Amino acid sequence: MAKISKEKNQNKKKIASKEQSTHLLRIAIQKSGRLSEDSIKLLKECGVGIANGNNQLKIKTENFDAEILFLRDDDIPEYVADGVADIGFVGENVVLEKNKDTQIVERLGYGRCRLSIALPKSKKQINIQSLEGKKIATSYPVILKKWLRQNKINADIHIISGSVEIAPRIGLADAICDLVSSGSTLFSNELYEFETILKSEAVLILGKQLTQKRKELLEKLLFRIRAVKKAKNNKYVLLNAPNNKIKEITKYLPGLNSPTIVPLAKEGWSSVHSVISESDFWNVIEKLKEAGAEGILIIPIEKMIE
Ligand code: ATP
Ligand code: ZN
Repeated sequence: MAKISKEKNQNKKKIASKEQSTHLLRIAIQKSGRLSEDSIKLLKECGVGIANGNNQLKIKTENFDAEILFLRDDDIPEYVADGVADIGFVGENVVLEKNKDTQIVERLGYGRCRLSIALPKSKKQINIQSLEGKKIATSYPVILKKWLRQNKINADIHIISGSVEIAPRIGLADAICDLVSSGSTLFSNELYEFETILKSEAVLILGKQLTQKRKELLEKLLFRIRAVKKAKNNKYVLLNAPNNKIKEITKYLPGLNSPTIVPLAKEGWSSVHSVISESDFWNVIEKLKEAGAEGILIIPIEKMIE
């Protein structure tokens, strides 16, 4: 612990002491871990070029006035709150646990996981009240404590960092509270997911004070992130239909404004182009087919700007 905080302070000083380039937006992302690849990918999709970091602490980006700070995810809220970084890409679970002075400005849609209470398979509990008086091992004491208080449960929180899932087996705790995505770690440790206390994903956090120039850069970046996110949630659809069916078909195609209709060389037929949302995708496709659409093509969208 002492070693980690010493290293963190040295890093902070290193970043802060270098010549401050006030015209650059300082973006903190996880150095290496589950969020690193997706954070870099999102930034690249937003036109923020990141050359290979080569284990550096800080690099300047290409095509966008920004600097990337590569940090441990646990340190990101503090760096942002202290103004060493302007914004950070980090798991909401970490933001809530660290409870620093930052605000969430955008949900990023990757790094999805849940913070759940898990119990040994041999112990079937009926309801959450049966956690009363139990010992729960976790690396998320702040979030767990809040949840226990809200549910009026008195339990003993045992803080451990790393390998929380082995705690019940070695007799250190009765239950654990840890991050889960597929559930395979729980399964291989003979635990089952008993109760989800938080659903998390990567979020963009913002500190208190940004210079005017940095505010403008953030707005620019947010505009691009939203366009990328929107494109991912939508598909471009192309289909052919006899002209007498177009009216019915276009009922199911809201599009950005209204669908584009182009006559085909084949007499009495048209091609219809539109955008549909991923969430009701299959329902819409089925309705289009029923209404007489043929040769339906679905194409991914790269960016979507309204
Ligand atoms: P660091 O060295 O940066 O401290 P870490 O080991 O604490 O890394 P990772 O395991 O890389 O962190 O997880 C980073 C984030 O990824 C988590 O805080 C969480 O938001 C998200 N995540 C998504 N799925 C999972 C999962 N199954 N287990 C843990 N974290 C997950
Ligand atoms: Zn971490």
